[in-house]
Amino acid sequence: MRILIISDIHANLTAFKAVLDHADGRWDTIWFLGDLVGYGPDPNECAQELQKYSHIALSGNHDKAVLGELDIKSFNREAKYAITWTQEAISSETRAYLQSLPSKQVEGDFTLAHASPRYPVWEYILDPLTASENFNWFETPFCLVGHTHVPVIFEEHLNGFRRVNVRPPIYSNSSRDALPLGPERLIINPGSVGQPRDSDPRAAYALLDTEAMTWFYQRVPYPVRDVQERMEKYGMPKRLVNRLAYGV
Ligand code: ZN
Repeated sequence: MRILIISDIHANLTAFKAVLDHADGRWDTIWFLGDLVGYGPDPNECAQELQKYSHIALSGNHDKAVLGELDIKSFNREAKYAITWTQEAISSETRAYLQSLPSKQVEGDFTLAHASPRYPVWEYILDPLTASENFNWFETPFCLVGHTHVPVIFEEHLNGFRRVNVRPPIYSNSSRDALPLGPERLIINPGSVGQPRDSDPRAAYALLDTEAMTWFYQRVPYPVRDVQERMEKYGMPKRLVNRLAYGV
């Protein structure tokens, strides 16, 4: 099966649509790793768009905060504002959809978790040490996570002890450059659709082929200004508006 892997849309419909257009015809189903809402201006539109397609979706920390299932004290000031704004903006349909989502799920060789397999809602896997600990928390060969908004692969090597290599994403237009998966176990992050934080403002996603067993990182530009104008119209914090242009 060919799977469109996306995470952290964060209510950015323009970026989400750019990804769908760019990946057109190259996938059969979607695996979405959570944080559908929070930060961006289009929570209902993104929920409606995702539900048009065959998909699996997880719930992220922002989704849970909007539902009142997470204490928003742990969020920074701008994120808190966005959560309160989203709580008022979402329809009862969007709310019910978000409530239906798990934060972790196993699909064949893949464990899907929003943040980490150890703490599916609230842990940032940004370094080899945290990744190393998390290899004990899933049984499958591969684990897909989002949450950090940074595309990266952690590769486990066992030779008496565990060593974890960090592999940055490689982007290419040719599917011949897709990364073969295995034999090592991997924790893989596709990056964020709606709010990248690796200093590259383009929307990030990946294509997974479970027959060929390949992973193919992709990046796609989108009209950031359109999203910023909607955010400004709704009076969202300047820092949230500005960061989209820089990918931070
Ligand atoms: Zn997120």
